Amino acid sequence: MKFAEQSVVWPEIKEVAKPFYEGMQQHKIMIQQCSNCSTHLPPAQLVCDHCGCDDLTWVEADGSGEIYTYVVYHRSFHPAFNDQVPYIVALVELKEGPRLMGQLKLKEGQIYKVGSTVVTGFHKIDKNNELLYFQLEDGDS
Ligand SMILES: [Zn+2]
Repeated sequence: MKFAEQSVVWPEIKEVAKPFYEGMQQHKIMIQQCSNCSTHLPPAQLVCDHCGCDDLTWVEADGSGEIYTYVVYHRSFHPAFNDQVPYIVALVELKEGPRLMGQLKLKEGQIYKVGSTVVTGFHKIDKNNELLYFQLEDGDS
């Protein structure tokens, strides 16, 4: 496969992460929860970061959170993003605690900062896959 011919950048999905990616197909954010200490964990963990327990279950996250940090890309590092620069990638702390990364899509004139409340959206990238993104809470795109 020639890298430049790919239309999207998509990881090889490991078995442990399948519930997360299958959740996105249904427009759900799936995270893990420890059965011992109830800590919520980002996908895809084998053991709890807090107590080391390996009995983790998948639960649906609310899908909202706050911008923890972000970066603005002014240069494309893959042809699939050539027409999107500049674009924002945010690390969002979900209401449940885990942090997820995704593109932050804004409407013209919207102002964002660390701590802004965001909600999750999804866009179809091919016939089998949906990819999450974030938008400001009052956005409707
Ligand atoms: Zn735990």
